[in-house]
Amino acid sequence: MSNGRIQILPPEEARRIAAGEVIDRPAALIREFLDNAIDAGGSLIEVFIEGGGAKRAEVIDNGDGMSRDDLALCWETHATSKIRSLEDLNTAETLGFRGEALAAAAAVSRLEIATSTDGREAWKLEIGPGERNPAHITQSRRTKGTSVRALDLFDSIPARKRFLKRDGSEAGLCRQIFIDKALAFPAAAFRYTQDGNPKCFLPAAASKKERFAAALLQPNEEIFLHEIHTTGSGFSADIVIGGSELYRADRRQLFVFANGRRLSDFALLQALEYGTQGLFPNGTHPVGAVFIAIDPKLADFNIHPAKREARFADPGAIHHAVTSSLRDFSHRLSLSRSGAADISESIDAGNFDEKSFQHLHSGYSASSEISGGLALEALLEKAPLKTIAENAGVSFAAETAPSYGFSGGSEAPRFAGRAFGLFILMEYADRLFIIDQHAAHERLLYDRFLTGPIPKQELLVPIPFSTESNTDDRFLEEKKAELAVLAIDIERDGTSWRIEALPADWRLGDAETVRAILDLRGARENMAERWAATLSCHGAIRDGTWLDDKTAADLGREALALRDPHCPHGRPIWTEIRREALFQAVRRS
Ligand code: ADP
Ligand code: MG
Repeated sequence: MSNGRIQILPPEEARRIAAGEVIDRPAALIREFLDNAIDAGGSLIEVFIEGGGAKRAEVIDNGDGMSRDDLALCWETHATSKIRSLEDLNTAETLGFRGEALAAAAAVSRLEIATSTDGREAWKLEIGPGERNPAHITQSRRTKGTSVRALDLFDSIPARKRFLKRDGSEAGLCRQIFIDKALAFPAAAFRYTQDGNPKCFLPAAASKKERFAAALLQPNEEIFLHEIHTTGSGFSADIVIGGSELYRADRRQLFVFANGRRLSDFALLQALEYGTQGLFPNGTHPVGAVFIAIDPKLADFNIHPAKREARFADPGAIHHAVTSSLRDFSHRLSLSRSGAADISESIDAGNFDEKSFQHLHSGYSASSEISGGLALEALLEKAPLKTIAENAGVSFAAETAPSYGFSGGSEAPRFAGRAFGLFILMEYADRLFIIDQHAAHERLLYDRFLTGPIPKQELLVPIPFSTESNTDDRFLEEKKAELAVLAIDIERDGTSWRIEALPADWRLGDAETVRAILDLRGARENMAERWAATLSCHGAIRDGTWLDDKTAADLGREALALRDPHCPHGRPIWTEIRREALFQAVRRS
């Protein structure tokens, strides 16, 4: 024993080593001080950094402040006013709870705290790195609130100081933390000053969206930002998301927060991208943030020193809520973008994988080979048009001039050919329209399914299935009649169910069919829209399907007559080139 090599570290050394886990760089000081300022209910919170934050990192708030007694204790290890036991984490609403941030800051820097609970009496504490003597409390002056200042970080620990990056980089990290906190707490005003220069002021904002725009976007980009809300059992989420006009080359403007803490949660970042799939060009990323508010009982934030990770009791439920609400939203957004459709009347395209598309594709190609082309009447057979030509004519009359700016006139767009197995070319006045046949067909079917009856087909062999939850059972029970209108007949069979009829031409396998039906639960009051999108998505002709001239021309005219020329996924149905531009391209005048 006496010649053993093990020794207990002196408490001061232990403290300095432990402190390194919490405070590894200036940005960590800013994070912890900001958390405390927010926990104290500050409505104006100011950050000052000098020398990348290592020389000075300070946060000033106008929150509750501390009494003299609390000030004397706050810098001690495990000193916290926020919890009393581990169990309290089940209800803790605060950002802090470990009571180690100020202690860590005091172990690795020179800490100065000034505070007042009422603006009349104020106290100041100064404590040097490693000092264990709380004697330096003096009377001070300040308004209600607290300022916490860390000076000369790591000056007493050269090994750590060497690992800091250049001031500019450290300052950048501090600023990122500042933005993170500001995004999550829009009701407070935030100010950021670097080396004496005011860099950023964010006034109190009415919403997360407003704050997001003020903190991160160009002024002209704000109109493209949207905020939606979703709930699940034990949690809710506010999602701020940019529309299709707003995207970036990287994920730097994508954020995940839970109970006010920014998380590096890859799955939830993916949910943001997944839910907005199709809105943005390939290889680009949306701009946005999901803010989850979860019952502390259902999440553990005590698994990472910087609280950058959390463990959720049911991550799948959160992921699903985020994805499906974003999907609904994406489609509503694209439909309403031209102002033609009411945002509340919109849809979700359901989730169909490439395999089901392939499946449909092959189905249609086969039939087109036999018939030598599909008539538009046949394509739209679900509820045939009166006459397509008439319809197009009417749509081009002056008073219903579509949103793309036709000035009317009796002349109809003329079929001018096809391109790349996908596009229908239409000529009208001085423009050439290039129409995506799949998207156009999908949109027409969608409108038809939504306005006309959906043809139903009894199944020779009913599909039996059972659900995984009582919620699903209840949903099916409650919506049975509504589902029947959507051409889905279901019957309860003891503890399980069976599907007795489906829309005509339904082509998915049993499991996918059941999934598509249960998926409607997420659409809530937009069930009909989602189902119409699902059906049109499945039923539309695919790229490469050969249409005869007449059918192609009819489809082209119908597409151009659409008031909102976007497919249910939100992609535009056509693009155009002006004669002038073509002439210019070959230097004609
Ligand atoms: P924790 O936040 O985990 O409780 P800290 O070490 O960050 O631990 O802070 C210790 C205590 O000091 C807090 O619980 C709080 O009571 C008090 N405190 C710290 N900063 C502030 C502040 N800005 N305003 C009021 N009280 C504060
Ligand atoms: Mg704290």
